[in-house]
Amino acid sequence: MKVDWLIVGAGFTGSVLAERIASQRGQKVLIVEQRDHIAGNAYDYYDEQGVLVHQYGPHIFHTNMKPVWDYLAQFTEWRSYYHHVLGIIDGKTVPVPFNLNSLYALFPTYYADKIAQQLVEKYGFNVKVPILKIRESASSGDLKFLADYIYENVFHNYTLKQWNLKPEELAASVTARVPIYISRDDRYFQDAYQGLPQAGYTALFQKLLNHPNIKLLLNTTYQEVIEEIQYQKMIFTGPIDQFFEDQGYIFPWSAELPYRSLYFKFFHTEQEYKQPVGTINYPNEYHYTRTTEYKHLTGQRVYGSTYIEEYPQAYKRGENIPYYPIPKEEYRTLYKKYQVEAEKLKDRVLFAGRLADYQYYNMDQAVARALNLFDQL
Ligand code: FAD
Ligand code: UDP
Repeated sequence: MKVDWLIVGAGFTGSVLAERIASQRGQKVLIVEQRDHIAGNAYDYYDEQGVLVHQYGPHIFHTNMKPVWDYLAQFTEWRSYYHHVLGIIDGKTVPVPFNLNSLYALFPTYYADKIAQQLVEKYGFNVKVPILKIRESASSGDLKFLADYIYENVFHNYTLKQWNLKPEELAASVTARVPIYISRDDRYFQDAYQGLPQAGYTALFQKLLNHPNIKLLLNTTYQEVIEEIQYQKMIFTGPIDQFFEDQGYIFPWSAELPYRSLYFKFFHTEQEYKQPVGTINYPNEYHYTRTTEYKHLTGQRVYGSTYIEEYPQAYKRGENIPYYPIPKEEYRTLYKKYQVEAEKLKDRVLFAGRLADYQYYNMDQAVARALNLFDQL
């Protein structure tokens, strides 16, 4: 087969690039995807009970990038949805990210009043402060008590479960994703655009890839077909370290980039709803980090409900899926060595995506990365 572009991976990065190249440059693209479906980790499907579920954990689209939102709106209607998360802290159910409502849910009113006033005086109202920042800046008194309390009860054990690392061992940006919010806003995200594709992510991807210039090969790794395909250029969206190893490169510094994996346990209940909101976090109890009930996200009206428990686990090549790059300085340094080697191949191979850039991208960032790369082509 002869194509202009060989794209490895049918997630957001690979599919958006395929769509742009096919529709804007009129060039031929072959996407090779090792899984038996499109949409990468955003893949959703109807389970045996007819409930629309996300196979690889809850995916909520949120962005402040209007061009990204508008671009995807060509391929889907959006269902407006604000994600709400509750955390079980000291046996109470409180809003996460930790905000003024969480404070009042946990402490006697007179004490919550006192701390709320100090928080507003020190940081301002409607301000987000990462836990590691609050811990640094609040060195005594009530604010120190609060900072230590939140650190211990919301972040420490959750982060150990999720990453097998303490919050301060990771890049500060990881726990800053869920900052303390000095506000009464209980939403998990505050982005200007939030929602889910009305008919689901997979349906969005079907439209994205529905172009005569795009051919798709599922259940196939690129290594299996590379000898048979004539192509000008490849875009690789899988793990960058694996690419070099598969291609037989051995560098003096060669080492595997670490990733974090997850295991999802699915449950179905006859109840209409199992929990009051989309996600419940369990920082301190159980081996799982959170449970998510999909009907809250999708708005689907159907008998019964399906929910999942998320169990973090070590990633082992060939055994499970590399879901998260691990944001830590030493791994970033190792990634940069791969990036230097990648640069040398740029006339023939381009790397982009959560695994190829080794970046903790949300979906909107993956789309933005793909659109920017297309602009540079
Ligand atoms: P991927 O979706 O991982 O796609 C890469 C594809 O390449 C995969 O399908 C893989 O099978 C394929 N591939 C790899 N190697 C090969 C090979 N050798 N041959 C063939 N194919 C190959 N983002 C949000 O914005 N909101 C959320 O709520 C959210 N929740 C998330 C929850 C979880 C549990 C996880 C893990 C991620 C979540 N994300 C969320 C992030 C989101 O999944 C990513 O931003 C997005 O999937 C990145 O797209 P991608 O195309 O770069 O990578
Ligand atoms: N986090 C935490 N407790 C919580 C929620 C989040 O400690 O109740 C930390 C944890 O380290 C987690 C990070 O904040 O990995 C980012 O959380 P987010 O919900 O953004 O993770 P994702 O949805 O990407 O898994």
